[in-house]
Amino acid sequence: MTGCRFGCCTPEAAALPDGGWKSTEKGWAIDERRAEHLRREWAATSARIDKAQSDYPKCPCGQRAVALDKFGLCSKTTDEHQRRRGIYAAPKTKARA
Ligand SMILES: [Zn+2]
Ligand SMILES: [Zn+2]
Repeated sequence: MTGCRFGCCTPEAAALPDGGWKSTEKGWAIDERRAEHLRREWAATSARIDKAQSDYPKCPCGQRAVALDKFGLCSKTTDEHQRRRGIYAAPKTKARA
């Protein structure tokens, strides 16, 4: 009998207030009984993101994006991307508006 969907927590650990997070002198810390849970939750989340992103279109730079612009590029603004967009010689020092 466990207290969470990943099967890593005891019912007491799962019932900790704030999910086991507590405020310490050094800031927020996770209760060690919940550390494994946090790791599993993070792994599950990133696996889901990876899967979702594998459906996304891919920019020539290798970046996947929810949507590519009309040039088939992601939202990056590196020289390479700007060149592909036909924008040349954008001064790097120019402050963005
Ligand atoms: Zn757990
Ligand atoms: Zn790109």
